[in-house]
Amino acid sequence: MAYKISDDCISCGACAADCPVEAISEGDSKFVIDASVCIDCGNCAEVCPVSAPSAE
Ligand code: SF4
Ligand code: SF4
Repeated sequence: MAYKISDDCISCGACAADCPVEAISEGDSKFVIDASVCIDCGNCAEVCPVSAPSAE
């Protein structure tokens, strides 16, 4: 299990700043989560203004 960021992402960067394990980085058109690093804490989903991250 890991969180995943949908295409609704507006690349604000808030989730990356709040991820405790630095699993989130900026991709080409949106931010992306490294599933092998994510610990499912849910911080990214809480801080995202457009609810782009969700548990798979
Ligand atoms: Fe990072 Fe937590 Fe979001 Fe996983 S759920 S990407 S660990 S903030
Ligand atoms: Fe994208 Fe939401 Fe992360 Fe901002 S907080 S970069 S909109 S996923």
